[in-house]
Amino acid sequence: MKTALAVFVGLLCAVSQAQVTAVKAGRLVDPDAGTVLADQIVLIRNNKIEAVGKGLTIPAGATIIDLSNKTVLPGLIDCHTHLADVRNEDDTDPFLNLKKTAAETAFESVPNPRRFLMTGFTTVRDVGVYRALNDIAMRDAINNGYIVGPRMYVAGAYVTITGGAGAMTGMAPDITLPWDLRYGEANSPWEVRQRIRELAHRGADNIKILSTGAVLTHGSNPKSLEFTPEELHAAVDEANNFGLRVEAHAHAAEGIKNAIRAGVASIEHATLIDDEGIALAKEHGTYLDMDIYDEECIQDAGKAHKTPADFLEHDRDLGAIQRSNFTKAVRAGVKMSFGTDAGVCPHGVNARQFAFMVKYGMTPMQAIQSATSNAADLLGKSDLLGSLKPGKYADIIAVSGNPLEDVRLLEKVKFVMKEGKIYKQEP
Ligand SMILES: [Zn+2]
Repeated sequence: MKTALAVFVGLLCAVSQAQVTAVKAGRLVDPDAGTVLADQIVLIRNNKIEAVGKGLTIPAGATIIDLSNKTVLPGLIDCHTHLADVRNEDDTDPFLNLKKTAAETAFESVPNPRRFLMTGFTTVRDVGVYRALNDIAMRDAINNGYIVGPRMYVAGAYVTITGGAGAMTGMAPDITLPWDLRYGEANSPWEVRQRIRELAHRGADNIKILSTGAVLTHGSNPKSLEFTPEELHAAVDEANNFGLRVEAHAHAAEGIKNAIRAGVASIEHATLIDDEGIALAKEHGTYLDMDIYDEECIQDAGKAHKTPADFLEHDRDLGAIQRSNFTKAVRAGVKMSFGTDAGVCPHGVNARQFAFMVKYGMTPMQAIQSATSNAADLLGKSDLLGSLKPGKYADIIAVSGNPLEDVRLLEKVKFVMKEGKIYKQEP
């Protein structure tokens, strides 16, 4: 057995104890091609996929995982999460952050990434945290195996104007916040550059910039502009100097267009995008990362009197407009990624957005692509993520039945593997 394995390993790689796993897939979704293949075998060596195909020879001694009665997909990617912030379902006010130390926030958020991984999300782009750099610490804790969670690509902080959408607002003016709650504040192109240099130095993977006001921030108006075009250009230029991409939070139509023209990789929310904005996004290849499920949670929390009244006022009508603009963008053929703003809804229910994406105009395959091949492209990681191809990470999930017929099956993921390691396996 040992000899057979060694022969298989071949001359290129002399790792004698390389671990080989074979996954037998009844159906396998290929988001790159938009197809579903039958009776496939995925061969995994250590943490990467080595080969995929029908009738592949399974090396002797390989661990065999039989998913022949399931549909196998690449691990899902959520491009808009906030895993390192505490989410208390009884207290949805950002002031919650002022009632806890940074350490309490960090430890209390430990269950969030585990919940995410167990629902089939093996990668997230985490786009901002109130306690600056806690997300970097969480990413590293996962990578070091201290805690369980998806692979995280993190922003480090919110780059925001003072008093803006990503700031901690609403306190009396004589209250001074600790450094980490105002880390991302910047009020000129040069301050924006300075913040981004600092974040790059501290290990951020991407930059989150707030182009317009927000729904869930005191004193902020989602219809108002915050950063100027000059500041947005400075952000993209400086981030690109460090090889980082920028995602821009934007609700208002002008703020969306300013950010697209500045060259951001994605527009978050894109709530009030107009026809010109849709055309611009298409022209520039900008992704729209529209969190169209959230509205359910904001309104539910509102009914339970848990959401501050000014937030509900911001939110009124925006949910319906965002969904109809989502439909327009899908029809126009704009690039779309899967982002849920997880943290607004409880962690672990974000797969519910798939059904809403289908309801508002996507095919089930398009919805799956938004969370796999498109998301990988947005992250600039198509060589490692987004489909089950040789050389990519062995991030594999499976569901019972056919999610292309019933996309809600993605809410009940039965099998989760991240980098060749199994985290969940249900019949
Ligand atoms: Zn967000």
